[in-house]
Amino acid sequence: GQCTLVCPVGALIEAPHWHEVLRTLDAHRRVSVVQVAPATRIAISEEFGLESGTVSTGRLINALRLLGFDYVFDTNFAADLTIMEEGTELLSRLEAGTELPLFTSCCPGWVNWVELNRPDLLPHLSTTKSPQQMHGAIAKRGRFARSLGPDFADGKAEPYVVSVMPCTAKKDEAQRPGVSGDVDHVLTTRELARMIRSRGIPFGALSEDGQFDSPLGESTGAAQIFGASGGVMEAMVRTAAHFKGVEHDLPLEWEALRGVREGVKTATIPGVGTVAVCNGIASAQRMLEDETWREDYVAIEVMACVGGCLGGGGEPKSMDPQILQKRAKAIYSVDAKAPRRRSYENADVQALYASELGAPNSPTAHHLLHTHYAARHSKRSLLMRFLDCVDRRDG
Ligand code: SF4
Repeated sequence: GQCTLVCPVGALIEAPHWHEVLRTLDAHRRVSVVQVAPATRIAISEEFGLESGTVSTGRLINALRLLGFDYVFDTNFAADLTIMEEGTELLSRLEAGTELPLFTSCCPGWVNWVELNRPDLLPHLSTTKSPQQMHGAIAKRGRFARSLGPDFADGKAEPYVVSVMPCTAKKDEAQRPGVSGDVDHVLTTRELARMIRSRGIPFGALSEDGQFDSPLGESTGAAQIFGASGGVMEAMVRTAAHFKGVEHDLPLEWEALRGVREGVKTATIPGVGTVAVCNGIASAQRMLEDETWREDYVAIEVMACVGGCLGGGGEPKSMDPQILQKRAKAIYSVDAKAPRRRSYENADVQALYASELGAPNSPTAHHLLHTHYAARHSKRSLLMRFLDCVDRRDG
């Protein structure tokens, strides 16, 4: 039988898709593309007996090639792109003085929560798509796809796009109105581990020399830290400081935004304002209890899982009480060693703007890389409204 697991934030069921993905790869009928999230390349090590906190990027790339993917790309490429779009969006809102503070929108657990519980906050959500969806949109409909052959150039064919995420809610995100079709199948880190085992691939013994394909595989250290609580905001601060021309007066690393601690983490960026990070959905709920957040902050990151994506519902289970810290340390070590650590320095992202998108937030960028949100009603809220009506009629 198939096992199902419940997401800690959205009560979403993890519907396994890995059998279907393997069948599609084995059939060799479509050009296949896979993208991997930053948190996956760390935690997958634990599934194969490697020490917690081992970075397995190269091994993971080699395993994905052995599974039969034609192109192995990096979700981090799209994380850099997200920062270009979201950072620009923040600065435009600051200029206009509207819809502030800006809430990040790359976590579908948080987006679902807002749509269900606080639709009044929807205008504050960044319209920027998440890195998973951006990557899918670019891989399917950008210059890379058109280069695959005449049918792709005419829009008659699309590559088969799979993403590997630390998250069960990302499966739901891929089906959202406005973004569905960007990604065909979403696998969790655990599902990918099962897939690798099913093919007898000796993951732990693979070499760490695997390299992502170009051009959707290049990324900076800023993208890698998306996998940890505070990482999206730190990445945004690095690039927003550049846009404002103050980056050389400011630190690159923002310790105040890092870590798995409780409560709201904050940092003040000269020329921009104070930004905040809610580590876990409960922390955001507490922050929203009073109205001070409206005045205190210009931008707020919310990741539904404690620790951020490295603590996601699709990551391997662990009994180690220090597991989140170990995974986070590994994520920040990748950033520290990266040759480029600010998203705007990603040469392939720059090339994408030059050749296809124009500028961040341009009409083309909006068409491919932005989305919208809408209030939704949970079964519980519909039931409460029904009971309320019955109650009033009876009264
Ligand atoms: Fe998914 Fe990351 Fe959000 Fe958790 S924090 S729900 S893993 S996107």
